[in-house]
Amino acid sequence: MGKTVAFIGLGNMGGGMAANLVKAGFQVNAFDLMEANLKAAAEKGCTPVDCPKKAVEGVDYVVSMLPNGAIVEGVYIDDGLLDVIPTTALVLDCSTVAPENSRRVGREAAIRGHRFVDAPVSGGVAAAAAGTLAFMVGGSEADFEASKPVLQAMGANIFRAGDVGAGQVAKICNNMLLAIHMSGTAEALQLGMDNGLDPKVLSEIMLQSSGCNWSLQKYNPVPGVMEGVPASNGYKGGFMVDLMLKDLSLAQAAAVSSKSSIPMGSAARNLFNLHKNSGGEDKGMQDFSSILELYSR
Ligand code: NAD
Repeated sequence: MGKTVAFIGLGNMGGGMAANLVKAGFQVNAFDLMEANLKAAAEKGCTPVDCPKKAVEGVDYVVSMLPNGAIVEGVYIDDGLLDVIPTTALVLDCSTVAPENSRRVGREAAIRGHRFVDAPVSGGVAAAAAGTLAFMVGGSEADFEASKPVLQAMGANIFRAGDVGAGQVAKICNNMLLAIHMSGTAEALQLGMDNGLDPKVLSEIMLQSSGCNWSLQKYNPVPGVMEGVPASNGYKGGFMVDLMLKDLSLAQAAAVSSKSSIPMGSAARNLFNLHKNSGGEDKGMQDFSSILELYSR
């Protein structure tokens, strides 16, 4: 029989990830607070379980994909899940949380004899469904190796960033840079348009020039310039402004704790906050490339 996984948190990301574990031959016990998500997981071959402590009985791995650090600590520490997970199991938390949340859960896990890695992801809901996520792992070399069979079933690129918490640091740095180059790309394109340039032509020029970056290559923020991106679909789908703000707030907190200067990251956080609150409606649910609207308005 295949190895067993308890999967906690079957939302937009977790639902697709759990389905890919089933496809790869794992037996997946699924738990979520939302009945509808449990039902959807059952339809994809998971075994729905009505209590997290039941879900972890006898499993080889525990994977969680939860909204934030308070919930992750609540599930593992306050609600006592770590007390009942088999000590032979490897615990992988894929949620995006503060490095300190991961280190706290890692310490509590170690006290109880568990192996723990933080493994936040890059890539959105589509990559979770397609099994093409990038994982940034924090944990010992041995635990990183042991996590690979599970992560390879859900992702295309798997990196070890360092010890427990390091995966979260890598994720925070990457997404802060993403926010900065997306805002900068929107700013440059709008400047060009305000001065009479066609954004398609300007994009082609910058793609072959020193301003080239991932936002221009894969995720142009101007509607109609690129097919298949959220900008050409009313900024629907993709990566929400609210989630980008969550990651920028984590970057801010990390910088405060390490006494690092992040003037560009702070500016990006303020820009995305301004954007969210501008125009009388909450823009938090729009894709983050809609930051262009802040410049074009
Ligand atoms: P989501 O809100 O769709 O899913 C979270 C799920 O957790 C929900 O189904 C919710 O019912 C469940 N949940 C909440 N508390 C629980 C508890 N105590 N026990 C069990 N289940 C519980 O969120 P998501 O978009 O799937 O994001 C999950 C994580 O992935 C977040 O940390 C997010 O920052 C990160 N992330 C998201 C994206 C994205 O594009 N959505 C991309 C990269 C990383």
